[in-house]
Amino acid sequence: MPDSKNTAYEGLVYQVAIPTPLRKLFDYLPSKSKKTLQPGLRVLVPFGRRHIVGFIISIKSGSSIPSKNLKRIDKILDEQPLFSNKLLKLLQWSAGYYQHPIGEVLSTAIPKKIRSANPANPISQVWKSYSSSDKKGLISLRNSPKQKGLLNLIQKQKGLTKESITKAGFNSRAIKELEKKQLIYKQTKTKPLGTAFKPLSRKNLKSLDLNKQQKKALTAIIQIEEKFKCFLIDGVTGSGKTEVYMQAMQQQLCKGRQCLVLVPEIGLTPQTLFLFQERFECPVISIHSGLTDNERLAAWNMAKDGSAGILIGTRSAIFTPFANLGLIVVDEEHDSSFKQQEGFKYSARDISIVRAQEEKLPIILGSATPSLESLHNIATKKFVPLSLTKRAGNATESTKIIIDTSHEFLEHGLSERLLYKIKQHLAAKKQVLIFINRRGFAPTLSCQKCDWIAECKNCISQMTVHIKPPNIRCHHCGVILKLPTNCPYCNNSNLESIGLGTQRLEKFLQARFESIPVLRIDRDSTRRKKLFQSMLEKINTGKSCILLGTQMISKGHHFPNITLVAIVNADTGLFSPDFRGQEQMAQTITQVSGRAGRASSPGEVVIQSRHASHVTLKNLMNNSYSDFAKYLLQERLTTNMPPFSQLALIKAQAKQLGIALSFLKKVKIMSVEISSNFNDQVTSIGPIPAPIEKRAGMFRTQLILKTKKKSTLQEFIHLLVLRIEDLKIPSGIRWSVDVDPNELT
Ligand code: ADP
Ligand code: ZN
Ligand code: ZN
Repeated sequence: MPDSKNTAYEGLVYQVAIPTPLRKLFDYLPSKSKKTLQPGLRVLVPFGRRHIVGFIISIKSGSSIPSKNLKRIDKILDEQPLFSNKLLKLLQWSAGYYQHPIGEVLSTAIPKKIRSANPANPISQVWKSYSSSDKKGLISLRNSPKQKGLLNLIQKQKGLTKESITKAGFNSRAIKELEKKQLIYKQTKTKPLGTAFKPLSRKNLKSLDLNKQQKKALTAIIQIEEKFKCFLIDGVTGSGKTEVYMQAMQQQLCKGRQCLVLVPEIGLTPQTLFLFQERFECPVISIHSGLTDNERLAAWNMAKDGSAGILIGTRSAIFTPFANLGLIVVDEEHDSSFKQQEGFKYSARDISIVRAQEEKLPIILGSATPSLESLHNIATKKFVPLSLTKRAGNATESTKIIIDTSHEFLEHGLSERLLYKIKQHLAAKKQVLIFINRRGFAPTLSCQKCDWIAECKNCISQMTVHIKPPNIRCHHCGVILKLPTNCPYCNNSNLESIGLGTQRLEKFLQARFESIPVLRIDRDSTRRKKLFQSMLEKINTGKSCILLGTQMISKGHHFPNITLVAIVNADTGLFSPDFRGQEQMAQTITQVSGRAGRASSPGEVVIQSRHASHVTLKNLMNNSYSDFAKYLLQERLTTNMPPFSQLALIKAQAKQLGIALSFLKKVKIMSVEISSNFNDQVTSIGPIPAPIEKRAGMFRTQLILKTKKKSTLQEFIHLLVLRIEDLKIPSGIRWSVDVDPNELT
């Protein structure tokens, strides 16, 4: 047998990250071209039978694989690396920390458009019209008003991109036809790299005069330059956190440095974008899920080449390359949407702190309801606390009352006292906000005769009744079915919708308060961007209306004329089985309450509960969020849960529950073996079915792993994942790791 050492390859070998589920790099020989290869460049490589896009991560002198088995890089796709060494290091760190395959991490970190071999610097394509149009061609347009309209527009605008053509309502067929008739032609251009934005001039700044607390916060922040420090602004809603962010950003922008602002949801982006654009005379761009692939790539390039001063983005924007980044802001840092729940399960907030550390930058986290993790980081002196306890301007505190609904007659979930208050506030020409945590019409459809309940066939869950349009939907897997008219078991036609969702409440309120607009804001109504925009505009007129919605309305929007906020049912969070349930309930109640009385009219907050005397609720009503958080932290300490311990989940899914469970049982045995080598105790709980046991036809199970120290968890999980990868895993099992899980679902 030949000695493997002798046949191993000696010479330069390139380690390439490839988007596959394998947690490793692949060795390749250099391409035949003379171009220099360096880390951060995209390359096209042969992989199995395919040719795919990967990233060069490192270069080494030799491979343990014999040279005849090594393949050559096909092609180098970029002139310049897409990531700096520091950013590449951050991405590798993230892959390691969250135990996710590096190739997939890099692929999620770049805009979709360049996950394939497209050029990173896009080529713009513009359609132009010929100056002297052929008469025959023009005549042929007589019966095609669409084509004629497009031609007119192209002539008028002296050229149009594909995007503007689509936006104007024309399809590719119209383009093709006009090309065929030789009335238009395509002009292709390479876009030159942008140049750095012009530093702001101090003369033209438009900032407000800060109050004492804001000044103190700003002074602390701007002392730190080109150094890492993490600040947490704990400031009640409306206390002027955004103003502090803006003045800290201003200092960087005056020096020509860029700012990255992370926000939780797309809904918040347009308002913040507008605010920043008004304030700063530099390009402000945003990256969120509502962009087209081309728009996203263009924005990404503007951050990378330095032509944008500010980038506002959701979660994934944390991986954007910057030419000259000076400051990171994470607004509403407690928000769970910073943690990605599927695929690469990373926390953008936590990675942003590592990035700031790596790039030696100050970072500001802000929230009216900081996460327990962040409060713990203040207690352990990792973060610098800055607090804003008063509302900015002349807004006053709202008064809170709790209505015990356990003995009350409720009309569509609303007590008589609450209905009376709504009437009062509307009569005073004010706006009312009603929070209810369930979209759709009703959570249950049931047969009056045989007690049949509409359930999803793919999940263990009930179907939600919707009336706009009328159907039943599974909120877990997205299945939509026709609204049944008869019971499938006994054929009885008396089916009843039980329980309360936003649509049902909307219908009731609209009937009760006929002359007042009722605006419903939930995932169903905001999916249509224009509709959402027009609702926001209506609210911003300040005219009397009822705003009704889910979680979405609790986030960030500034509605000055709201004076009454009602929480229809505070009980769901109170009895949540999840360890973060109470923290999230407190955050939601505090955030929603914060929407009341933001301008000069005083606000009122009404909370309905069937358990009004529950200690947790009482505690929250009588104390500030921060006192309540202290109490929750104490509870986490006694139960040994995060931030006082570290968690990770090994998740497995299969079409049969038994298969998933027996796979995790094997993992558990390995985990017990490995943990015997650690001094710090590693506890494993399970395997158990996840709280949502079946979803989209797959049974879901999990093994919970817990350690005292982060470093133990890291080492331990790394070893465990290596062992799992060596297992012969039956096909049909999907497994993944969730480090620092947000919830145990
Ligand atoms: P937060 O981000 O804490 O919710 P904002 O920064 O949005 O609060 O401020 C709430 C309102 O108060 C805004 O309308 C803002 O313009 C105003 N504001 C903030 N700081 C000041 C200040 N120093 N003087 C006057 N108004 C202020
Ligand atoms: Zn029936
Ligand atoms: Zn389902």
